[in-house]
Amino acid sequence: MSNLGKSMKNISILTAACLAVVLGLMVAPADTPPTTRPATKPATKPAPPAKPLTETEKAAIAGHDLLVDAYLKNDFEAIEANLKVTSAGIYKLSTEQRANVEYIRRAAQEQRPTWWPKTKSSANSSFQSGIWGKPLMTNYVPADELGVQMPVDVRDGKLIMVVSWRPTNVDNPRAADGALAKTLGVTKGDIGEVVVWHELGHLFISSAFSADTAYELYTKYELLYGHLQEFFADMTAIYHATPHARRIALVLRLDSLDPPYGKYREIEPHTRGANAIGSMFLSEVLMDPSKWPNVHLPPKVPETEPELKTIVYVYEHFTATWTFAEDKAMREWALKVVKTQGDQIFRSKGMIPLQEKNSFSLMEAQDREFQKKRDAWVTSKLNAAIAAKLTDKEPPASATMPGNHGTVITINGHTIRTGDQMPPRIEVPIY
Ligand SMILES: [Zn+2]
Repeated sequence: MSNLGKSMKNISILTAACLAVVLGLMVAPADTPPTTRPATKPATKPAPPAKPLTETEKAAIAGHDLLVDAYLKNDFEAIEANLKVTSAGIYKLSTEQRANVEYIRRAAQEQRPTWWPKTKSSANSSFQSGIWGKPLMTNYVPADELGVQMPVDVRDGKLIMVVSWRPTNVDNPRAADGALAKTLGVTKGDIGEVVVWHELGHLFISSAFSADTAYELYTKYELLYGHLQEFFADMTAIYHATPHARRIALVLRLDSLDPPYGKYREIEPHTRGANAIGSMFLSEVLMDPSKWPNVHLPPKVPETEPELKTIVYVYEHFTATWTFAEDKAMREWALKVVKTQGDQIFRSKGMIPLQEKNSFSLMEAQDREFQKKRDAWVTSKLNAAIAAKLTDKEPPASATMPGNHGTVITINGHTIRTGDQMPPRIEVPIY
């Protein structure tokens, strides 16, 4: 690292560097038109044809629903088989069904690209991965405990980074540990892939900078840069993950947002990044809760920190099932944020625009006024949702137990917060 620090450039370098990142981020992945409507209804059968359907045509129509089901379950063999079946009779499908088939074909390719098996290699491996539609030279080192990205060398003025994670978690079908993990049916594979995509998200950002600029960012803007890195790494995981793992990229940060033993750590970059993402997602949901049937809102406005407590409630009360429309909406939301706001978020030093002129500053000291405004906004939107009967009902008194936060949380009938001795909701390696 010694030859990194020789030139300390002025702030214009930061701006230039940020633009470089931004330009990188502005390139949409090949597959997804960002302006498509997020929600699609379950399949409806096309109008009865004039002549009887052939077996191939019947199979294609049935194949559409099987394909959607396989996609939501990460069953890549069944995805492949049903893509063949639907393609053979694609002309018998409705416009909407055809769009779904094409969407799944592209998304599945991106979720399990040809290089994916290398992510579970037991030996060091260098390969070309792809993030946000761009190729990315990837040096991977298997490790037991951590998901991490770190610089190891400087070559041609660029930092050479390695990424590292626990290969045994990748594609591992075993259940993850923790009460919430059980409720949501989280596998170790879900955690493994969130970590892989997160680290590759870091690598994507780091790869945009020269060594000098990276040094400057790490020294002059260490805290801000750390916050931006974690925010974009988690957004990368939300977009690139499979449907089974996508929500887990949010939920894995729950214990940092609402720690069982300590207090919220304002300065910790993963926590701030996760809070920003929670705030953004909640703002999407509150604009139209009816679009998110498996996102639950609290029965009353939390007495303190209404925004943060509502984010926590939402994460703790996701239903285990998740619709294709919701998954697609979440994926397209992540893409839209990075593609249309990534530039602005970097250049404005971590200012994130939200619905209805709200903002979130990744830097907590700069966020306090915005937080007050968001708390008022969430309160008013929640009150409207309660009036429209779009929130959960009050749990019966018998279901409540005193906790160290003075609140009672049950998930689908399971109490998962029991006070000071509360175990993690999901056991997850540090990443
Ligand atoms: Zn990270």
